[in-house]
Amino acid sequence: MCARCNKCFRSGEFCLCNCIKEFDPGIKFVFLMHTKEYKKQRTGTGRLAKNTLIDSEILVGVDFTENKRLETLLNDSQYFPVLLYPGEDAWTSAKTGFKETVGNKKLLALIIDATWFCSRKVIEHSPNLLELPKLSFSGSYRSIFTFKHEPRPEYISTIETCYYLIKELQPLGLASSSDPEPLMDVFKQMIKDQIRAENERIQGLRPNTHPKDWKYRSQREIPDYLN
Ligand SMILES: [Zn+2]
Repeated sequence: MCARCNKCFRSGEFCLCNCIKEFDPGIKFVFLMHTKEYKKQRTGTGRLAKNTLIDSEILVGVDFTENKRLETLLNDSQYFPVLLYPGEDAWTSAKTGFKETVGNKKLLALIIDATWFCSRKVIEHSPNLLELPKLSFSGSYRSIFTFKHEPRPEYISTIETCYYLIKELQPLGLASSSDPEPLMDVFKQMIKDQIRAENERIQGLRPNTHPKDWKYRSQREIPDYLN
């Protein structure tokens, strides 16, 4: 077993740190990571997003009502906090008045980095989060990551969430004009590595360690859009 990289939490051969190109999105991203997800990082993308986005951070927990770091950030007047969360009352980049409401503050974007199920748990335990202004997408997106079995197809990964959010906020001047492509680049590399490893498992070149290995019986090709 290769040692785990302590920056991206992937085992040696799957370390993606060389593929990471940091950039400053002009938004402070904070990933609220469910304690359970923090430990298993096989398919999680929050840490990759964090390593790519300058000035972002990860807070670990389930109940964020008394999280000291979160409190400090929320009380910092340089920020306009938003929780990435859908809803009729959510702001979107297309809603009139959003830019004016944020004013000259920096967006503090809180993203719950967890599976759909664990996200529900975080929300249930952290009612304070729903009191924050919400932000949602104006467009609709589908994940390019087909391995994750989420109950809804529109449930996109954390790293894609950051990517599309930056893209939507750039025309408003609420995100910097830095190219957000490095997020997608490292994400695509992660998926390619995973397809390759799964193929090798099916070929018997690699031991079966994945609890969902039974789901993958036939080898797959790496789709063109990943190259
Ligand atoms: Zn690494």
